[in-house]
Amino acid sequence: MVSATFRFYEELNDFLPRARRKVEFTVPCAQAATTKHMIEALGVPHTEVEVILVNGESSGFERLLCDGDRVAVYPKFETFDVRPLLRVRAEPLRTVRFVADAHLGGLARLLRMAGFDTLYDNRIDDPTVAALSVDEGRVALTRDRELLKRRGITHGCYVRALKPAQQFAEVFQRLDLASSARPFTLCLACNAPLRPVAKSEVADQLPPSVRASQDEFLTCDCCHGVFWRGSHWRRMKALLESQGVTIS
Ligand SMILES: [Zn+2]
Repeated sequence: MVSATFRFYEELNDFLPRARRKVEFTVPCAQAATTKHMIEALGVPHTEVEVILVNGESSGFERLLCDGDRVAVYPKFETFDVRPLLRVRAEPLRTVRFVADAHLGGLARLLRMAGFDTLYDNRIDDPTVAALSVDEGRVALTRDRELLKRRGITHGCYVRALKPAQQFAEVFQRLDLASSARPFTLCLACNAPLRPVAKSEVADQLPPSVRASQDEFLTCDCCHGVFWRGSHWRRMKALLESQGVTIS
């Protein structure tokens, strides 16, 4: 019988039963179990894991566990430099794109507002979210850890917060999104690109007060909505600025 000792760090402890949080514990492992298999069997989605050390050495997800191995499992580091350690995922996603599960519509709209291509449909099921994540190289966003354990998923983000604005801040900080944001370039409803449109072309769609006070407009060729810098825009701008995004 093979048994190994595990220690999980930082927020990965949220996935463990109380008695296993922030302590070493020894568990029996299946014959030929990999680090990934055991980490998920213990309740932690592998997409939440950034670094694994086995007996002090950087290891990947496919490392087979041997009797007496000591396994330290770390989430994405916020505060200290891990470049000397080999990360479990060699290739970061080149362009950050998302697919949100059916419960994260508010978050999906905020990510689109920040310019991140985000698929969302309130009828989407978990297998479809997983398939889109794998096939299109999208980060799966969910509050369902089982979804992140699905076969093939490599990039996922377990969302802890309950309200959209807090979820947005959480995802933004965890994935360091501030520098790649392109605010107000995508339609919140359609995920389609917005383009500038002349006032004369949309004048008949505008409330009189807007026609009198605004001169710059964007439109979506998918839903034909017209957008301008009103109160909604100012709230969105404040949310983005609170996350370190500069808006001219
Ligand atoms: Zn639209």
